[in-house]
Amino acid sequence: MTDTPAIKTELLRRLTELEERAVRIETDMTAPMAADSEEQATEAADDEPLTTEDAMVGREIAAIRAAIGRIDAGHYGTCLNCGAKIPPARLAAMPEATLCMDCATS
Ligand SMILES: [Zn+2]
Repeated sequence: MTDTPAIKTELLRRLTELEERAVRIETDMTAPMAADSEEQATEAADDEPLTTEDAMVGREIAAIRAAIGRIDAGHYGTCLNCGAKIPPARLAAMPEATLCMDCATS
């Protein structure tokens, strides 16, 4: 049987971590540019991976919030596509999973 309260605790912990990371990324991106023009060029180039990381963190936050919402609604651990139970081992590895292994790989 899936230990849903434990999963929810773990999801909330990860959500807090990710939100802190998102704030740090935001701070990095909005930090004022250095006055030196050479520095400026380097910082501009550095913004690219940060933006990618920001998008990744944003997606993960959304996925975890959705998973917590499904726990609260009592739908957690059910495949959104076919309605099958998602195996606990899969949920343990990927708590925000919304699809069973079959649907995720097809
Ligand atoms: Zn499925």
